[in-house]
Amino acid sequence: MNELLKKSATEQSNAIKNKEVSAVELTKAALERINSLDEKLGCFNSLTEDTALETAKKVDKKVANGEELPLLAGVPLALKDNMNLVGSRTTASSKILENFVSPFNATITQKLLDNCVPILGKANLDEFAMGSSNENSAFKKVHNPWNLNKVPGGSSGGSAASVAACEVTLSLGSDTGGSIRLPASFCGIVGMKPTYGRVSRYGLIAFASSLDQIGPFARNVEDAANLLEVISGYDPKDSTSLNIPVEHYAASLNNDIKGKKVGVIKELMSEGLTEDVSKALQKAIDDYKAMGCEIVEISLPSLKYSIGIYYILATAECSSNLARFDGVKYGYRTPDAKNLMEMYTKTRAEGFGPEVKRRIMLGTYALSSGYYDAYYKKAQQMRALVTMEFAKAFEQVDVLISPTCPNTAFDMGAKASDPLAMYLTDIATISANLAGIPGLSVPAGFDRDGMPIGLQILAPQMQDAKLLNFAYKFEQANNYHKKLANI
Ligand code: GLN
Repeated sequence: MNELLKKSATEQSNAIKNKEVSAVELTKAALERINSLDEKLGCFNSLTEDTALETAKKVDKKVANGEELPLLAGVPLALKDNMNLVGSRTTASSKILENFVSPFNATITQKLLDNCVPILGKANLDEFAMGSSNENSAFKKVHNPWNLNKVPGGSSGGSAASVAACEVTLSLGSDTGGSIRLPASFCGIVGMKPTYGRVSRYGLIAFASSLDQIGPFARNVEDAANLLEVISGYDPKDSTSLNIPVEHYAASLNNDIKGKKVGVIKELMSEGLTEDVSKALQKAIDDYKAMGCEIVEISLPSLKYSIGIYYILATAECSSNLARFDGVKYGYRTPDAKNLMEMYTKTRAEGFGPEVKRRIMLGTYALSSGYYDAYYKKAQQMRALVTMEFAKAFEQVDVLISPTCPNTAFDMGAKASDPLAMYLTDIATISANLAGIPGLSVPAGFDRDGMPIGLQILAPQMQDAKLLNFAYKFEQANNYHKKLANI
C-alpha cells in the first residue's frame, strides 16, 4: 500500500499542496487499494473512478496554477450509497433500486465537488439504512477490517470500514438512530452525527426524515471537523435545514476544557456493558478528570423508552417514505403483473428485503386508524420528554458521555435472526436522534480481543463545535486513533 493512504486528510492535502504527490496519484493509489482489498471487505457497491479522477485533475491544475486549494481538496472520499451523485447508481443496497442511476446531485455531493474532493465510490449499507450490522444489504455483507469474521456495525458499515482500512481517508454516512456512531465505534474511527438540520438532507434517500442526519467519518477528530465544515450549511431545498452560519470547527478543537462539566449518563454506565467497555468508560472519566473537568452523574430516566419510541416513529416515517417505491417512478418493476394492483404488490414483495418489509408493516400498523393515538401519538409525546430531559441535563453539564455501544463488534450472524437483540445494539445512540442533538464516537481503546471500543460524546443542539472540542482533547490525551487495523 502507498504509505500516504494511511495519513490524515490534513497531511494528504498538505502533501498535494507541496507537490509531494499529485491528487491524481493519490486517487489512483486509493482506487488500487480498493481494487485489491475490497473483495475481502465488501465496502463498495460501486466505484466512480471517472468522477474521482476528473476531480483530482482539477486539483492538480489548481496546484500547477498556484491557486489556493479549497478545504480537503484531493482527499479520497466515499459516499454512502443512499446519497445521490449524478450519473452513478444510488441503490440504498436494495434490489428495488439496483439499477437506479441518479439524475441529480445531493446538496452534500455538490458541496464536495465544489471543494474538489474526489468521490471514489458508493459505500455499502444496510438496505435503506435499516440495521446495525450491515448484514441487511441486498448485495453483500461488509466485514470488519479488525477481524473479518466480525460485523463492521451499521447501517453505514461500508463508509466506516473503508476509512478504517485506509481504502479512503474520509467518508459520509447517515445516522437515524446511530448509524454513523455505531460503525465508527466498531471500526475504531471517528464518526459524528451533527445537530439535526445542520447538514442538508436533500438528495439523501429518506428513511425517517425527522431523525435522518448526514455526517462525517474520519480517522481523527480534526479531519471529521473539516469534513463537517465542507458539508454543512443552510439549504432552501431541505425544509428542516437550519439557517445558521457555518463555523470553522477546526479552530476551536484545542480550546481549554479545564473547569468544564462532563456528565456521565447513569443509565448507560453499567447495564449490559461488557467488562472491557466498562473499563474503557472508567478510563475516559479519569482522563477528563485529569484534564481538569468536573464529573457529574446525570440520570436520564426516559432513556429506557428510547428504543420503543424510535421503533414506532422511525417505522411510521419509513412506511410513508418508502411508499414512493411502487414500480411506477423508480427502479425495479416486476416483469409479470396482470394488472396495476398486482404490479404494485409484486414489485414491492420482490424488491424489498425482509427487514425493510418488517419496518413498513410495523409503521403502517402504528399509523392505522384506531392505533394511531396509542402508538404514534404516544411516541411523539415521549419524544418530547426525552428532548426535555436532555435540555435539563445540559443546564448542569457541558457535554454527556457514555459508551457508544455496550459491547464491541459481534460475530457475523450472531444477531441476524433476532431483530430485538439487534435493535438493542442502539441503546446508547438512539436518544440523540430523538432529541436532535449532536453526537460523536471517538476511539477509546480496545477489548481483550483487540477490537476497538468507542466513547460517545453528546452536546446540546448547535454546539457541534464544543462536541468536537471535547472529542479532540480526549483523542490527543490518548492517541488510540494512531493504531490502524492491520489489513
Ligand atoms: N440501527 C438503527 C436501525 O436499524 C439505526 C439505523 C440508522 O441510524 N440508519 O434503524
